[in-house]
Amino acid sequence: MTGKPVDCSFEIEVPVYGDIHSSSSHTWTCAIREEIVYAGQVFRFSKPLTVEAHALWSESDLSVSLKVSSTVTTPCSRCLEPTDIEISSDFMYRYTLQGKRPSSEDDSEERDHRLVPVSAWRSHLDVSDQVWETLMLSLPLRVLCSSECRGLCHVCGRPLADGPCGCPTADGDLKLADLFPEAHEEIADDAVENEKRERRGR
Ligand SMILES: [Zn+2]
Ligand SMILES: [Zn+2]
Repeated sequence: MTGKPVDCSFEIEVPVYGDIHSSSSHTWTCAIREEIVYAGQVFRFSKPLTVEAHALWSESDLSVSLKVSSTVTTPCSRCLEPTDIEISSDFMYRYTLQGKRPSSEDDSEERDHRLVPVSAWRSHLDVSDQVWETLMLSLPLRVLCSSECRGLCHVCGRPLADGPCGCPTADGDLKLADLFPEAHEEIADDAVENEKRERRGR
């Protein structure tokens, strides 16, 4: 995974402390020019990244919902043709003061949010790491240009969608000698020569 883009930072205003009716929302759009490499797949942004954040107090923790969306271009997993895909993902984070004893709810196995420790409450909270994490989770590990993509010829590497390439079909009958008949003969000739030499040497 590559690092998060340097030119985008995401800071939200922290609602009035202790006021459950106070909340804050923010929407950013950020053009990401760098490629992202995630799980061996290269992604390029064809649209700016949109991030929506909504923060409100939940007891003494700050609940922040993050939603990321954009369109990215990545090579098809079969034929490598650049393919546009829309991404959209949301996730809930719960920022909690460091060292605070976790409430019983936090021990629950079925948590729908992730806990993020903060050292102190300030007027603003940097949620960039969590935006980046939500973005990474929105990226697909496998992308197909179409469900019928036939991929590439195993012999010459040409896209099979372009029509027959003239290569022998890979139906299990392919032998090395069929591909490189000359090489096969040379090996045979060498073997004969070696045998001749050996006989002479005796
Ligand atoms: Zn494809
Ligand atoms: Zn071929």
